[in-house]
Amino acid sequence: MNILLLGPPGAGKGTQAKRLEERYSMVQLSTGDMLRAERVSGSALGKRVQAIMDAGELVSDDIMIALIASRIAGLKGKGFILDGFPRTVPQAKALDRMLDENGLALDQVIELTVDENALIDRISGRFSCKKCGASYHDRYHQPKQEGLCDVCGSHDFIRRPDDNAATVKARLAAYREQTAPILPYYRRKGVLRSVDGMAPIDHVAAEIETILNNAKG
Ligand SMILES: [Zn+2]
Repeated sequence: MNILLLGPPGAGKGTQAKRLEERYSMVQLSTGDMLRAERVSGSALGKRVQAIMDAGELVSDDIMIALIASRIAGLKGKGFILDGFPRTVPQAKALDRMLDENGLALDQVIELTVDENALIDRISGRFSCKKCGASYHDRYHQPKQEGLCDVCGSHDFIRRPDDNAATVKARLAAYREQTAPILPYYRRKGVLRSVDGMAPIDHVAAEIETILNNAKG
């Protein structure tokens, strides 16, 4: 079973991919991680990627496809969860061609839908303990004792600079403009399913499981 997870940043794709890896021994192919790993490996492709990124340019669709193809070849028939690619219709088509050439296909495309205002609220209040990484929220999960981490007792907290309302809004707008147009492409192919990404994590995982089980049957 090969699937693609779609949804704006903050929809919970990474968390759900991790669950699927554990439950179905599928392999997550996150394009961000793949690019990083390839650069570190020092392969010929990795060196090209490094040069492109050093120049501040975007890695081309061809390179991304080549990268994904080489990863898939190494999976020896294990299913994969793609996350972060494709983001445009031409990329989706190029991916389908490559999979087709390898006798593969995307069995399901699962979109995690979000309520934009609720997502902005959820992300923009996040902070975490600098020492142990425990996560907190301004409105929903304050430390029991103000300024003191519940887990390790540290006084040091950090906020990611991109966890603010303006940045989250910009990312949502980019998703709506650039990536959302690929949804009709997959809908026409009959592989698109939507899940409410704002539901509790276990709930979302159960819904995805049902979709995958139905697809298998
Ligand atoms: Zn802590």
